[in-house]
Amino acid sequence: MKTGTPPRVDGRSLHWDRMEIQPGDENPSRFSYTETPALKKQLPCHITYTNDKVHQMLRTGFDQSPMFNGRIQGRGPRYCPSIEDKIDRFADKERHQLFVEPEGWDTCEIYVNGFSSSLPEDVQYKALKLIQGFEDVKMFRPGYAIEYDYFPPTQLTTSLETKLIRNLFFAGQINGTTGYEEAASQGLVAGINAHLAVKEKDPFILKRSEAYIGVLVDDTVNKGTEEPYRMFTSRAEYRILLRQDNADLRLTPKVSNLGMANMDLRMDRVAKKEEQSREIIHFFENHSVSPEEVNGFLNSIDSAEIKQKLKLHGILLRPHISIEILKKILPGVAEVMGRYDQEIQLLAEITMKYSGYIEKEQEMVDKLSRLEAVRLHDTFDYHALPSLSAEAREKLTKIKPRTIGQASRISGVSPSDVSVLLIHVGR
Ligand SMILES: Cc1cc2nc3c(=O)[nH]c(=O)nc-3n(C[C@H](O)[C@H](O)[C@H](O)COP(=O)(O)OP(=O)(O)OC[C@H]3O[C@@H](n4cnc5c(N)ncnc54)[C@H](O)[C@@H]3O)c2cc1C
Repeated sequence: MKTGTPPRVDGRSLHWDRMEIQPGDENPSRFSYTETPALKKQLPCHITYTNDKVHQMLRTGFDQSPMFNGRIQGRGPRYCPSIEDKIDRFADKERHQLFVEPEGWDTCEIYVNGFSSSLPEDVQYKALKLIQGFEDVKMFRPGYAIEYDYFPPTQLTTSLETKLIRNLFFAGQINGTTGYEEAASQGLVAGINAHLAVKEKDPFILKRSEAYIGVLVDDTVNKGTEEPYRMFTSRAEYRILLRQDNADLRLTPKVSNLGMANMDLRMDRVAKKEEQSREIIHFFENHSVSPEEVNGFLNSIDSAEIKQKLKLHGILLRPHISIEILKKILPGVAEVMGRYDQEIQLLAEITMKYSGYIEKEQEMVDKLSRLEAVRLHDTFDYHALPSLSAEAREKLTKIKPRTIGQASRISGVSPSDVSVLLIHVGR
């Protein structure tokens, strides 16, 4: 496979006033539920665009590019193609957006996001100068691309242990994934499982319905990958359950008996969050508001007036209404919510507003998890089942799924193959 990076330039040489400013999030959320203080001070990014002159300049380097003259044939990530790939593949586009991103507070170095390139240095430099805001740019380092090898991840079990060599675990780019978080999360799973293997304990496996890590491992191990694999949220089928507001509730209990640091403190925090969220929901389900208190506001947002007292819960379920809004119009709500952290209010709000969808998705998980409970042995002889399709026999023999649930997600294994397996194991 291949991947690349854009040039780094000197921020002091850019004309910021010729670009569009892109401020950060108004309320940046924290990266994890730890003591890490919330981010207060932020640097903005800027946006600018390539243009026809930039494209023409880049094209002058194509014949020297290892990507175009055939020296590099690896497949790159489709979601962050190089600038030369973009102007080649999307030749009808007049311009491409670039995010001009500061690399930090203590550096003037700028990351030109969207301009990843492996063209010759002088071509990159000349093309950069033709971008609005970059007329006087100084380039610290040109962009470049690399090619690398990976091992098909279908050779792993879901604990990330290699099937061929016991006690050898693989994580990260070696498995055909790309990205820092992809590598880090697999490293965590592989590390935990290497430890558990030494202790002769059961492996630590996250389900698709429990974590994005579960989706990543399940996808790569069962389907393999022909291009650098990135963990997009869209790859997960249970996105209503896999939310960031409940990440700690989903995952902290899972690792609590693995002996990881500060577990008591973290479990206490999870328990407190759950309890406080229940308190908020209880308050919304038991406190009513009168027509006089809310009708003026409901009118202003074209929402039907209420005729008699109604529980706060009923108002919150309406579209365009949030706890944040109710705090502004109802002093009683503001006072009670003042006792709770913002993130707990958000958890309670999501739990109330989307409870119907959350329950439906959970029912689906429960239904499919019955298939996860049906074990398949490593030595299962799929060739002895003539009613399986030839492709299913081949894939199942190669991948050796541990459960019928896992078998059902292997590409090439159809629902009728799953029925054959279920009948064979007596279900
Ligand atoms: C140019 C470029 C730009 C990228 N940009 C981004 C980006 O912006 N965002 C993003 O999320 N991802 C990016 N990536 C992808 C990301 O860097 C990788 O997917 C990720 O770092 C892989 O982590 P890893 O731990 O699997 O492998 P690596 O980080 O490659 O770590 C493997 C380590 O093993 C060591 N090693 C190898 N052989 C041996 C041996 N025999 N003995 C001991 N040690 C050995 C190596 O020296 C290396 O330190 C980029 C990658 C490249 C190449």
